[in-house]
Amino acid sequence: LYNQVQDLKGSIRVYCRVRPFLPGQPNRSNSVEHIEEGSISISVPTKYGKEGHRSFNFNKVFGPSATQEEVFADTRPLIRSVLDGFNVCIFAYGQTGSGKTHTMTGPKELTEQSQGVNYRALSDLFLLSEQRKDTFSYDVSVQMIEIYNEQVRDLLVADEIRNSSQNGVNVPDANLVPVSTPSDVLELMTIGHRNRAVGATALNDRSSRSHSCLTVHVQGRDLTSGTSLRGSMHLVDLAGSERVDKSEVTGDRLKEAQHINKSLSALGDVIASLAQKNSHVPYRNSKLTQLLQDSLGGQAKTLMFVHVSPEPDAVGETLSTLKFAERVATV
Ligand code: ADP
Ligand code: MG
Repeated sequence: LYNQVQDLKGSIRVYCRVRPFLPGQPNRSNSVEHIEEGSISISVPTKYGKEGHRSFNFNKVFGPSATQEEVFADTRPLIRSVLDGFNVCIFAYGQTGSGKTHTMTGPKELTEQSQGVNYRALSDLFLLSEQRKDTFSYDVSVQMIEIYNEQVRDLLVADEIRNSSQNGVNVPDANLVPVSTPSDVLELMTIGHRNRAVGATALNDRSSRSHSCLTVHVQGRDLTSGTSLRGSMHLVDLAGSERVDKSEVTGDRLKEAQHINKSLSALGDVIASLAQKNSHVPYRNSKLTQLLQDSLGGQAKTLMFVHVSPEPDAVGETLSTLKFAERVATV
């Protein structure tokens, strides 16, 4: 039934989330003029075009007061389809500081209420599999990787991780760790975030310039018929989408910027060609789309959360973010 509901809505959807002004920021004008259930309107300074404003339509728009719970509520049916053997990809896209990590993970000081999509999704999986336990048995395991400069790094490499086994499902060299409770997941996410921070300095905050991906593999067995199924879910916190002025950066920063640029456009190209039902889908153009190839397209379901900062000085990036999203949306 969940799949039927999903099919009606299409397999690619785009949600937009607007970050609130941050505490301590001076009370300034807001570049987001108007938000409705499925549309957002931006006031555009003349510098960016003749119009005084531009509107964009998406499957859903969450305003600055939307809670983590509200944002997750619309994601739930997707999570359920993973237990029915579907592959799901959820992406967080937007410029650095627009709220991607807030949506996927949550704020630095995490509480039950402020938990993001990652934790909620896994908790939901456990809850649902528990409800189905008389008819289905499920094994859930997770991987956490980072893609930096087109190189994949396993984030679940630590002595603390026992029971881990090698597995060739999507990321051949990354540890696949069995989990059975939300607290197992929290523990792994802590290890992953710690590993991600390794090598990052204040000046070189790698987290904004790499993609991080939490992959959940589900293997289910129908206890009456004995048949089995596999589903997967990729939860991706993308690198910041801001364009770097090539005349201002050199060396490592330029290389990073080029890699990010290339992989985000490759992702946009893949999703756009899936949305347009093109016969050729250009998966090979980046590490990210290569890794996710089996989970993008076909029967798979894709959800993109695009993030927008409300500050007027971010409006250039906001417009390019919304244009990117408009291109992949099939509203
Ligand atoms: P990104 O990952 O896109 O760089 P973050 O998620 O780190 O951005 O968000 C930047 C700052 O804004 C963080 O301090 C974060 O806690 C805060 N923030 C982002 N989105 C929200 C939100 N919806 N509500 C409250 N604070 C938010
Ligand atoms: Mg972030």
